[in-house]
Amino acid sequence: MNTGPAATNNPMASSAPTSANSAVATTATAIVNIASLVTNDPSLGDSSALGLIQDAAVVIDGDRVVWVGESSKAPATDNRVDAGGRAVIPGFVDSHSHLVFAGDRTAEFNARMSGQPYKAGGIRTTVAATRAATDAELSANVARYLREALRQGTTTFETKSGYGLTVEDEARALRIAAEHTDEVTYLGAHIVSPDYADDPAAYVDLVTGEMLDACAPYARWVDVFCEKGAFDGDQARAILTAGKAKGLHPRVHANQLTYGPGVQLAVELDAASADHCTHLTDADVDALASGDTVATLLPGAEFSTRAPWPDARRLLDAGVTVALSTDCNPGSSFTSSVPFCIALAVRDMGMTPDEAVWSATAGGAAALRRQDVGRLTPGARADLTFLDAPSHVHLAYRPGVPLVTEVWRAGTRVV
Ligand SMILES: [Zn+2]
Repeated sequence: MNTGPAATNNPMASSAPTSANSAVATTATAIVNIASLVTNDPSLGDSSALGLIQDAAVVIDGDRVVWVGESSKAPATDNRVDAGGRAVIPGFVDSHSHLVFAGDRTAEFNARMSGQPYKAGGIRTTVAATRAATDAELSANVARYLREALRQGTTTFETKSGYGLTVEDEARALRIAAEHTDEVTYLGAHIVSPDYADDPAAYVDLVTGEMLDACAPYARWVDVFCEKGAFDGDQARAILTAGKAKGLHPRVHANQLTYGPGVQLAVELDAASADHCTHLTDADVDALASGDTVATLLPGAEFSTRAPWPDARRLLDAGVTVALSTDCNPGSSFTSSVPFCIALAVRDMGMTPDEAVWSATAGGAAALRRQDVGRLTPGARADLTFLDAPSHVHLAYRPGVPLVTEVWRAGTRVV
């Protein structure tokens, strides 16, 4: 498998939880009889980037993994769970979604599938519906889609604002998002607010000023849609730089619809991730390969807009760390299914099944600069996704089949 370059560029690689098994208390829980276990630790199992162990066991104490290895060598514990010969992988890390919204865009999707192209502007429909919604409606919507994602094996999720576009509505979206996840992103710069259509510069002043002040307390990340019809390179630089000055770390919607400055700006500002990366020059690929910015590919968007696929193979061959996420949003990618994205990435973007599973777990963690998720090694959070299949390859081999039968998050069975 050729995830070697990705592994070497992976910021988690040098500071991952130790793979040495810890002393195991008898009160721990051993999950045994796992047909194949993806650990994402190359020092384990078959020494691939997935660190695959056959006939494996995982021991959990509290919210952490404390031991992984062959089932026959599992330490004695009071509690044993039989995995029944299923495959177990780390819970998916979905590092890119837009879940704080109201309404839907069924009519727009229907029209697009009847021949109209996607432009960066249909967002305004969702902005109007989101502004009109109550806090309770927005929170219930986030909870609903997070439950949906959890049922499909996702145990870590990032989500963004970007459908409020006023000081109050953006801060409200982030406050609600923060009730559901630690990975919260300020995206006041999703599009220029319709209220500022005649004066985009004044909107950038708002996003980098009063709106940022109101939003920063609820967010970990600052993001910008750097694209024709949204924000240009200079505006994006101003927005990300202002966010950094407030302690937020950058990520960028970059090079989705056209070539542009987003990817190189992301690398220059040490953004954790450049998201989409569909239209890349050789210089863009070189920049990603030389920096610590992860390329996050979001094939649900290309699927739902009938757009050209990002070329994952080109990025992987250049040594870029690649993450795979859903971009779940009501306009351009209304899927919460990471398994669906894995199947698309393998079928249409040149990824091997192993690479796609790595990118949807360890890759997503790298895109969030997290070391505690996206892997199943001692010290990591005990986030396990069970597949009704003997191997993780079935996620691509059996597209559209609900293979996720059981999910554990932080040591607790939640599905
Ligand atoms: Zn997005």
